[in-house]
Amino acid sequence: MGELASHSERGSSIRLKKARQIQAMRKAFNVVRRRQRANIRRITDLEDRKKRLRQAREKAIGNEALLKQAIENLRQNGIKVYRADSQEEAVSLVISEIDDNRLVVKSKSNLTKEIGLTEALEAVGIEVIETDIGDRIIQLGGDVPSHPTGPASHLTRYDIAKILSAHLGKTVKPTAQAIVELIRDEISAYINKATIGITGANAIAAEDGAILLLHNEGNIIQVAMRPEKHIVLAGIDKIYPGIEEALNMLKLQTFYATGALATSFLNIIAGSSQTADIEKQLIKGVHGPKEICLILVDNHRSDIARSEYKELLYCIGCGQCLLVCPAYIVYGNRFGVDSQLGGRGLVYSVLSLEAPARADDGLELCLSCRKCQQHCPLAIDIPSMVNKLRLEKDTKVLEPHLQTAYDFVRAHIEWVGSAIQLEAVLLIARLLRLSAGD
Ligand code: SF4
Ligand code: SF4
Repeated sequence: MGELASHSERGSSIRLKKARQIQAMRKAFNVVRRRQRANIRRITDLEDRKKRLRQAREKAIGNEALLKQAIENLRQNGIKVYRADSQEEAVSLVISEIDDNRLVVKSKSNLTKEIGLTEALEAVGIEVIETDIGDRIIQLGGDVPSHPTGPASHLTRYDIAKILSAHLGKTVKPTAQAIVELIRDEISAYINKATIGITGANAIAAEDGAILLLHNEGNIIQVAMRPEKHIVLAGIDKIYPGIEEALNMLKLQTFYATGALATSFLNIIAGSSQTADIEKQLIKGVHGPKEICLILVDNHRSDIARSEYKELLYCIGCGQCLLVCPAYIVYGNRFGVDSQLGGRGLVYSVLSLEAPARADDGLELCLSCRKCQQHCPLAIDIPSMVNKLRLEKDTKVLEPHLQTAYDFVRAHIEWVGSAIQLEAVLLIARLLRLSAGD
């Protein structure tokens, strides 16, 4: 009996924790949406920019000639370039580039999450320190992210202070300032010690042979400037014809991901640190890495680019579709697989990852409301892809139009039940807090 009671208490506390995380995530999303509304008028050519971005993506995705041009120009700029067909190949290239180093510092990258890089490096005894504040919190808490650019959006400052207190073995004040300062100081010590840094890339400009990195925290340039080596991992879908198109994407990505008009830092890297100031002798590694190594990862992207799901790769990872998705703001990251979140993430998981069962379950939760497509800067038709994948499942036995109608009704019934349960849990928690005089 006692065991049963404690089991049900545990269940309630997990439900409450999850509900609070979703509440915190919604609050963070609302901040972004408010900022977007305040700033949208300041991008006077927004529609034109979206059109240009769509054209650049149409031109680049699945364009083998453009990819070859990018590789050629990057190599001409002194950057070592590899192509990795699979996640295993990408991971083993990173391991061989790290060689006998046992510590690397790393910046936020959805691709490294996709290929499970951190876990794979840790499994061979390499310590990996995430240097993005949100990612470091997720790493310390053993959690999963809730937004591509705001991974810890679902955690309150109280949750984070608890995680950090356990990690540091001392009580951490639950204020944003105190938390950031403590994490920053710890990360800085690791950055100073590491000789190799790993980053993703926001874009690769083919014509210029350049890698573009965008960030607010300032950590990425420090990671990229480690003295020995900068390892960059980028999906082959990150190629843009030239710097102008890449910059246009970055402007839109910033606006849709954060509501801001610009991020604090934009780094364009087109070669390693070097000088020939002394008798024209070329010396590498002056104020930055001696070597830059870029791993272009396919991992099913070429197959997707050749398929009817090609449009999926136009995605710029802004996360706008999550902010507006009614399923995501009720289910949270249950409507996704690991770091592949929302409808887009689920479709991508089914097509490219080895987690189809979990992804298939997630697809069933989509409400077919089309809000993601309406708000996506590229108008990517995620709902049609979800519907198509649902119909392809062996368990679907009805005629397609009947099956679609059935899926629609079932998803809505499930959503209403979950939304009511979520609100009820939050309401009870509030009442309990009030009655305790909190
Ligand atoms: S699908 Fe569209 S809205 Fe969603 S992350 Fe990709 S580009 Fe952004
Ligand atoms: S169609 Fe599905 S994925 Fe898109 S916003 Fe609606 S519920 Fe979310």
